[in-house]
Amino acid sequence: MTATGGPARPAARVAGAVKVHGSGDTAVHALDGVDAAFPAGRFTAIMGPSGSGKSTLMHCAAGLDTLTSGSAWIGGTELGALDDRRLTVLRRERVGFVFQAFNLVPTLTVAENITLPLDLAGATGDRDWIDAVIEVVHPRDRLHHRPAELSGGQQQRVAVARALAARPEVVFADEPTGNLDSRSGDQVLGLLAHAVRELGRTVVMVTHDPVAAAHADEVVFLADGRLAGRMRQPTADRVLDRMKGFDPHTPTEVPS
Ligand code: ADP
Ligand code: MG
Repeated sequence: MTATGGPARPAARVAGAVKVHGSGDTAVHALDGVDAAFPAGRFTAIMGPSGSGKSTLMHCAAGLDTLTSGSAWIGGTELGALDDRRLTVLRRERVGFVFQAFNLVPTLTVAENITLPLDLAGATGDRDWIDAVIEVVHPRDRLHHRPAELSGGQQQRVAVARALAARPEVVFADEPTGNLDSRSGDQVLGLLAHAVRELGRTVVMVTHDPVAAAHADEVVFLADGRLAGRMRQPTADRVLDRMKGFDPHTPTEVPS
């Protein structure tokens, strides 16, 4: 394999990715031959109009869904070659997830939510690492609170900490700021950027928000299930300009 996606080796990659949802008359070609590499130690945003295949690409790259054809790798591991048990272990140990809905367990404390994936796996994890994650994510005085006592932004920061707890090779986030006001969203984005720049993680984030995408090192654009370009060092204005080319309904101003 040769490095075609820049200097860094890919933390995750898809090649010739095709995904058809359903069959027959109702078949939807969500991915129509996508080649994309997500470099290690970088923050990549996936952008595109609604229905362009962003979530499908993320789910297939992360091992939450399977491709109809083509292949997906985490590091050097091809996901299609794994049986269910190995895929479960890979998702638990090597991948972290953040979704639009925070998905914290309401009956557990913040601290218990953060270490839940490790506890379920019967693993203790790397205590120094977990402490470092908790340090940047959340004031220690909230660790024994329940999720309902936290704001949405705080809950999503806990969800990011949970995704980081097992020290995964790559964290996939699907519209992680979609339910947040812009200030809380900024804090979650700052945390994801910190995980990359200070903690050395790899983040792949789906978003339709140019302001969110501008936190990334690079944006990968999807349109109609196909790769439609990449942008390094994105700014919200440049991303918005690019998006206008895909979708005539994109608002013409970046919301402040
Ligand atoms: P995005 O995240 O960019 O909005 P998605 O990946 O969710 O796009 O969807 C891409 C296309 O695939 C859309 O046309 C969507 O309706 C369709 N799709 C997504 N998931 C399913 C599913 N489980 N069953 C049928 N169609 C689906
Ligand atoms: Mg989506």
